[in-house]
Amino acid sequence: MRPFDYVKPADVAAAVRAVATAPGAKFIGGGTNLVDLMREGIETPDTVVDLGGLPLDGVEELPDGGLRIGALVRNSALAADQRVRGRYPMLSQAILSGASAQLRNMATVGGNLLQRTRCPYFYDQAAACNKRAPGSGCDALDGFNRGHAVLGVSEQCIATHPSDMCVALAALDAVVEVESVRGTRRIPVADLHRLPGATPDVEFELAADQLITAVELPPVPVAANSRYRKVRDRASYAFALVSVAAALEVRDGAVTAARLALGGVAAKPWRAREAERLLVGGPASEESFGRAADAELAAATVRPGNAFKVALARATIVATLRDLTHGGSTA
Ligand code: SF4
Repeated sequence: MRPFDYVKPADVAAAVRAVATAPGAKFIGGGTNLVDLMREGIETPDTVVDLGGLPLDGVEELPDGGLRIGALVRNSALAADQRVRGRYPMLSQAILSGASAQLRNMATVGGNLLQRTRCPYFYDQAAACNKRAPGSGCDALDGFNRGHAVLGVSEQCIATHPSDMCVALAALDAVVEVESVRGTRRIPVADLHRLPGATPDVEFELAADQLITAVELPPVPVAANSRYRKVRDRASYAFALVSVAAALEVRDGAVTAARLALGGVAAKPWRAREAERLLVGGPASEESFGRAADAELAAATVRPGNAFKVALARATIVATLRDLTHGGSTA
């Protein structure tokens, strides 16, 4: 690992000052992704600004009935929070489906939002990868791309975003609060992660000196009946082939409210707005759920290795909505 300076700021103001005055600096929370990337030589910060100990580790009620989650709240603590389990079960389930218990005990909410793709070529310095080395090419396009994206892809990159938590946050219209020496900014989670386009190396709508300090969840009544369903190659400690975060309200056989987001299929948590639009007002039937899924997936661009994801995503969407129609939410 390349040598780096280590800074331990006393407060948030000192943390953002430290990064603003040290180009090439990186914030570190739980370190569960950044340390791996530094070991592999993918990330090479000159300075690491350790956020441990800053007062960003609480979950507070908001006046409107939502929750404000500090960026340093551990994934395991957030998943276990009774308010999250009761009001946003899809979020608790999503977190518990990710990584291992040990990693969830270390990983923070802010770090989870900013974790980087697990595309194997991105981690392989001998491979061509436009995300790691812009302009070098993309070995995944004609390589082993079983786990890669089918929505929002470009000819420069077909990597997926690996987070489960972020899929639920996108479905819940969560908002990220960021701090820098220029002040405070609020960014909808749906806008935080970028699609690859011609610049897959630019992954976030976030400047390098901006620190995520909190995530706010608005009140989402339909989320009380919600679920996160993850399909993967083994039962634990695996990234999603496809995942679905869904919430549904059904009255007299008709859908009156719906939230839907997909994971494992795009470079960002994929909010399925077209499917939501078709679901609301329609019958709560498998046929209707299938039509909504088909509409959302119509724009898929597949490769031989990942073409199966379209049918898998359709089936997972339909199955999750069917469970919710029958009150299948558990946290
Ligand atoms: Fe790199 Fe993206 Fe291609 Fe993977 S899919 S090799 S991350 S450019």
